[in-house]
Amino acid sequence: MRSWLLALGAGAALAASLPLQQADEYRDARLLMVRQQIASRLAGRNPVTDTAVLRAMETVPRHRFVRPGDVKRAYSDRPLPIGHGQTISQPYIVAAMTEMMHVVRGDVVLEIGTGSGYQAAVLAEITDSVYTIEVVEPLGRAAARRLVELGYGRVRTLVGDGYFGWPDHPRFDGILVTAAASHIPPPLVEQLKPGARMVIPVGAPFQVQSLMLVEKQRDGSVIQWNMGAVRFVPFTRGD
Ligand code: SAH
Repeated sequence: MRSWLLALGAGAALAASLPLQQADEYRDARLLMVRQQIASRLAGRNPVTDTAVLRAMETVPRHRFVRPGDVKRAYSDRPLPIGHGQTISQPYIVAAMTEMMHVVRGDVVLEIGTGSGYQAAVLAEITDSVYTIEVVEPLGRAAARRLVELGYGRVRTLVGDGYFGWPDHPRFDGILVTAAASHIPPPLVEQLKPGARMVIPVGAPFQVQSLMLVEKQRDGSVIQWNMGAVRFVPFTRGD
C-alpha cells in the first residue's frame, strides 16, 4: 500500500489526502530517531516500549515544530530552542514522559507548557481529548496555528498561567507539565481524577530537577516517585 502511494509521487490532490507520516521526506529520520534514541537501551535510559507512544513518535512531524534553521536537527537527540528562551524537549524525554502517564485512547489529558505544540500533538495521536496551556502568548498562538495546520485542530489551546489547571474543567485522566516547578501545584493535583497520573519536573530553575510521577489514589492522597534527573526551562507565573 505504502509503496503504491509513494510511487505515485506528490500529485497535489493525492498528497493532500495522504497521512503525514507517508507524505513527508523526514519519515526515515523519524523512524531512525525512534529506533535509536527511544526504543533502544542507551546509557542511563530505559527504553520506551509502549507501542502507542512509539507509534505517535513515528507519526508526528517534529521538523514542523522547530524553527526553520533547525529543521535538519529536528530528529537529533537533543532539545532545540523555539524562541522566547524556551525549548522543545529532547525526543526521548517527550516519549518517556508520555509513557509514564499511561495514556490510553479516550483519556482526557492536560499539558502545561504548550511551547511548540509538539508534546500536545504526540498526546493527540494517542487520545482525542487533549488540552494545553502556554503562558507566553506568542508561543501559544503560534502553536495553536501550527496544530490546526498539521491536522491536530482538536487540541484545545489556551494562553495563560497553567498553575491553576484548565478553568472550570472537572478532572483529567493525566496531566503533563513540561516546565520545572518549585513544587507540585495543588490545583493541578485537584484536577486529577482518582487513579490519574501527573508527570512534572520539580526543582530549582536552571538546575537539574527531579522528574516526579504523581499518582492520585482513590482516597484523594497522592503517591510520588522520583523518575530521575532532568533539565527543563522554568515554570513561570503569569500575572
Ligand atoms: N511541551 C513543549 C516544550 C515546552 S518548554 C513542546 O513540546 O514544545 C516549556 C514551556 O512551558 C515554555 O513554552 C514555557 O513558556 C511554558 N510555561 C512555563 N511556565 C508556564 C505556566 N505557568 N503556564 C503555562 N506554561 C508555562
